[in-house]
Amino acid sequence: MEVSAAQAIRSGIAPDGGLFTPETIPALTQADLQALLPLTYQELAARILSLYLTDFDPADLERMIAAAYAYPAKWADPAITPVTRLAEGQYVLELFHGPTCAFKDVALQLLPHLMTQSGALCQDTREIVILVATSGDTGKAALEGFRDVPGTRIVVFFPEQGVSDIQRLQMVTQEGANTAVVAVRGNFDDAQNGVKQIFTDPAMMARLARRGMAFSSANSINWGRLAPQLVYYFYGYLELCRRGALKLGDPLNVAVPTGNFGNILAAYFAKEMGLPLGKLICASNSNNVLTDFIASGAYDRKRPFYTTVSPSMDILISSNLERLLYYLGGQDAAKVRRWMEQLKSDGAYRVDAATAARIADRFGGGYASEAETLDTIGRVFRDCGYVMDTHTAVGKAVYDRYAAASGDRTPVLIAATASPFKFNSSVLRALSGSPAGEAASEFELLEQLHAVSGRPIPAGLRALDQKPVRHDGVCAKEAMAGAVAAILEV
Ligand SMILES: *Cc1c(COP(=O)(O)O)cnc(C)c1O
Repeated sequence: MEVSAAQAIRSGIAPDGGLFTPETIPALTQADLQALLPLTYQELAARILSLYLTDFDPADLERMIAAAYAYPAKWADPAITPVTRLAEGQYVLELFHGPTCAFKDVALQLLPHLMTQSGALCQDTREIVILVATSGDTGKAALEGFRDVPGTRIVVFFPEQGVSDIQRLQMVTQEGANTAVVAVRGNFDDAQNGVKQIFTDPAMMARLARRGMAFSSANSINWGRLAPQLVYYFYGYLELCRRGALKLGDPLNVAVPTGNFGNILAAYFAKEMGLPLGKLICASNSNNVLTDFIASGAYDRKRPFYTTVSPSMDILISSNLERLLYYLGGQDAAKVRRWMEQLKSDGAYRVDAATAARIADRFGGGYASEAETLDTIGRVFRDCGYVMDTHTAVGKAVYDRYAAASGDRTPVLIAATASPFKFNSSVLRALSGSPAGEAASEFELLEQLHAVSGRPIPAGLRALDQKPVRHDGVCAKEAMAGAVAAILEV
């Protein structure tokens, strides 16, 4: 089925459960890239996004981009996604300077604007209700993005015992007249299942419709969350050209800490558009289903699920792989649907040899154990004076192994997906080599990490313990639908 960009963003997922993806990927020439060199992040975003959001007015796009990527109102660095040199030929693309200190801000600061504008373009005047179940990062980033955005409401459920102190405080102190946050007595799966049931409950949808409301999703299955992520790969590449570290046209590898395959899929799109990227190195933690898939063409989620120090990558079903399979499987939607059905029914599928070869040609894969992840944080700090978070460390560890095994000396850009302060206790443990201050509060840990690293504590985390709690609701997992009805007054 074919839809406009606005319709794809508004509905989030196709009625048959499939994911929307661009019909064709726009191509840029070297002269086009040359013309992008002097642009700011915001100008670059307008240029790249206008190639995909063809039904949006360019002036509207510029206005939305200015609001989403405002410095210093929203972002702590004027470059938005600054590049830091780690070592010879190794650079870090810092994606965590947004309001919630994780890379999800890049997309979730813009998505709410795209969503309301999509409503206007589709002449859909219903109020959009975003429902989120979160294990920590997505919920907070979505709350910050959607707060006080006209025509939207957002309700976030988190597992009462399943998030860190910092993550809980980030959410329960959330400001904004259209935000609601509820703790669920249960684990993340309970919260997620509850949300899925509410989404598809016809009675609930009818109650919303009577009040002029409709549900939508802020997960990375929504194309509107992926498109903004293409921009920073262009930004990183062009920034290295501006510094003289690359000549326009030189190849650049990227290494991406991966969970749902959204971030690295954005790199794939950028490469297909003509950005001279080399290998796309897909880095996993102990939940290494993607490492095996890239090596063998066989996807098998029937394996133990590990809880790791890089929790935002603890995932065994990488939803966005479906989009890659469409392009590299020869744009055969029926074939992709069969694989996705096998994944649902058998927990596994194997792609054909030609598709597997195309994937192995473009992607490198690898994973880092818990010990390797923590070792990498310590080693990078000693060798380069740079403190990275646990997710970014997985990317660095996997890159180092790839470079050693392949002898590939192409310069590399490592995506830094979270601030080290967001995972302060693991990072401090890695830096000191011993379990850091078991008894210390999260806020003492922030101070300790500040003292060790010399980096400023991000503003959004520093003042958290002084903010009033605005959301103290707790509900049983069976009572989530009732909670939503009460919040929305439907
Ligand atoms: C979400 C997340 C990831 C995984 O990104 P995907 O797009 O799901 O692959 C990695 N690191 C951090 C810190 C995240 O929050």
